[in-house]
Amino acid sequence: MALPIGRETTHNDDGPGGVERLLERMSDANFNVRLVALMAVAAYLPGGDRRVAGAVRKALDDPKHKVRHAAARILKVPCPGCGRTR
Ligand SMILES: [Zn+2]
Repeated sequence: MALPIGRETTHNDDGPGGVERLLERMSDANFNVRLVALMAVAAYLPGGDRRVAGAVRKALDDPKHKVRHAAARILKVPCPGCGRTR
């Protein structure tokens, strides 16, 4: 996987279609794709998009702990997988 994880990379290539694409990827069968999409979509949380907030909250129920953990960190809630906040 050569997809970059980073805040700088998430803002540039997106019009309104960018969020849609990320939200779609958050249902990908590959957890790495979901994880990268989650990190990227989190940058849109301050924008108040309900679909974004919903998708991040949904990631708390992801089958993969790594994804749930990342979602919990983003939402600043204890991880449903291990109970940690970091
Ligand atoms: Zn965890």
